[in-house]
Amino acid sequence: MTTYRSWAYCPASRQNAIKPAWTDFDLHKETGSLLPFGNGRSYGDSCLNSDGIVIDGRLLNRFISFDVEQGILRCESGATFADILALTVPKGWFLPVTPGTKYVTLGGAIANDVHGKNHHQDGTLGRHIRCFELKRSSGKKLICSPEKNTEFFAATIGGLGLTGFISWAEVQLIKIPSSFIEVETTAFHGLEEFCALSEQANVKHRYSVAWLDCASSGKQFARGLFMSGNHIDCDKKSKSALHEPTISIPINFPKQAINRYSIRAFNALYFNKNRLSAGKPTKQHYDDFFYPLDSIGNWNRIYGSQGFYQYQFVVPPSKLVVMEKALNKIVASGLGSFLAVLKEFGDLKSPGMLSFPRPGICLALDFANRGNITLKLLQELDHLVMDAGGAVYPAKDVRMSSQAFQSYFPNYSEFEAYIDPKFSSDFWRRVSDKKT
Ligand SMILES: Cc1cc2nc3c(=O)[nH]c(=O)nc-3n(C[C@H](O)[C@H](O)[C@H](O)COP(=O)(O)OP(=O)(O)OC[C@H]3O[C@@H](n4cnc5c(N)ncnc54)[C@H](O)[C@@H]3O)c2cc1C
Repeated sequence: MTTYRSWAYCPASRQNAIKPAWTDFDLHKETGSLLPFGNGRSYGDSCLNSDGIVIDGRLLNRFISFDVEQGILRCESGATFADILALTVPKGWFLPVTPGTKYVTLGGAIANDVHGKNHHQDGTLGRHIRCFELKRSSGKKLICSPEKNTEFFAATIGGLGLTGFISWAEVQLIKIPSSFIEVETTAFHGLEEFCALSEQANVKHRYSVAWLDCASSGKQFARGLFMSGNHIDCDKKSKSALHEPTISIPINFPKQAINRYSIRAFNALYFNKNRLSAGKPTKQHYDDFFYPLDSIGNWNRIYGSQGFYQYQFVVPPSKLVVMEKALNKIVASGLGSFLAVLKEFGDLKSPGMLSFPRPGICLALDFANRGNITLKLLQELDHLVMDAGGAVYPAKDVRMSSQAFQSYFPNYSEFEAYIDPKFSSDFWRRVSDKKT
């Protein structure tokens, strides 16, 4: 038995694991429920299977082929985005979509149909996956693509690891002129100002995202920094493609370290420091632009051993008032934390049956786990999101009810037909009301 944790430290389960070294392993012989495990960068319980066995795919991280002319990469599913970038950036190619950490595996990223700062322009990762091999527990292997086994393709993208094990995948990369991004930063006050900036920036910038202060009220309510950027040709000396964390949190912080005063002080400092550099474009290495948190090893320990919750939700564009209500609730509770991330999703359709991204405004932030008061606030937010016809991101969740899940993902019953009969997860048992 090995301990498997997800990123927010909330559930840690000791469970059986198999660690295949070659993609021809046999799932047919396994007894008990199965679930693929990528690199545990999901925050909640969608990557855990405490009653069963996880298929830990991290040894399956070999490259299979790379067409340097066309930017088409095929690799095993356990290759991380860090591994991929180390290979492709020196050849002038970048991932078409990346989340805020490069320590995710390709298999895990497909299973959550991850989105990035370029959602308005490029949609989710699934739109750039050309094909993959899906291993079912029956022993059958399916090659899935937008043309072949199309239902399994759609069910597996964003399918939370439940349709089988992706052994390899092929992704279309994007051409880049250098490792640098030119970034513009603008301070804003209020959600309407954010939306206006987003509308302008999304026309000329591939990437856009904002940091929102979720601790300040009154005149400072909903202030933030809006960042947008494009890949640029830059002769600045490139840093190594594979950055390792420069500092690391060695222990879990004590519970008292994160409180409404330390958070308010941090947010004010962050806003004021960065506001000064706003207005002047800067050149940032892709590591600094896309993965700032990766430079702090084990940053998830700052919330202490009781862990934290991340809450990420999207509401339709017409429901800005709901976002404002949610934000008011968060500010009034004093429970919100550092670095809330606000992003406008565009209207490019996500290819997965259960993909989370959809047109609207999306907010993600951490809450230190303070027990029932935190859970009560999150439940209140759930009701706002449900009433607005929005959704909460399963990759970040450990507590949504089956009622909430079914409201956010109304086609879950269509999806159920593609679940591998031997596959399950802690998340799935909770949201589908299934005990096995
Ligand atoms: C700092 C940070 C920033 C983040 N930013 C973003 C963001 O901007 N956008 C975003 O979308 N997400 C974001 N995330 C979430 C993260 O991108 C996803 O949770 C991602 O799926 C984690 O990948 P993983 O390889 O660690 O997989 P895990 O978390 O281990 O597993 C994720 C899911 O993939 C399944 N899975 C894993 N491997 C396979 C396989 N081979 N075959 C089939 N299924 C498989 C698992 O069963 C599970 O359901 C962020 C996470 C962190 C920690």
